[in-house]
Amino acid sequence: MSTCPACSAPLQGDWKFCLSCGAPLPQAAPAAIRPDTADAGRTINLLAVIAFALGVIGGPIAAIFGHIAVRQIRTSGERGLVLARVAIVLGYVWLVVWIAAIAWIISFSVR
Ligand SMILES: [Zn+2]
Repeated sequence: MSTCPACSAPLQGDWKFCLSCGAPLPQAAPAAIRPDTADAGRTINLLAVIAFALGVIGGPIAAIFGHIAVRQIRTSGERGLVLARVAIVLGYVWLVVWIAAIAWIISFSVR
């Protein structure tokens, strides 16, 4: 609970003007800052980073690492859920690319 800088009346958090004196109130940062500071305290999941790196390099194993990372993040509450999800997508994309490349090579050797 804060008070008005002009008249010291008690204020509710989401008021834009003081209801006692009508003074405009500075929009207090606490509500906006809280998610950031909470976020900063959480460590990023290492496996999610590794999975993402593998996904960028081009390994289908990124999908497996990504799935494990998502499971770890769900239980530990770590950061990196988006990173892990991207890694899963990249892993599956590479899997399709690899299968297509292998099928293409086989089609040549059969001929
Ligand atoms: Zn006031």
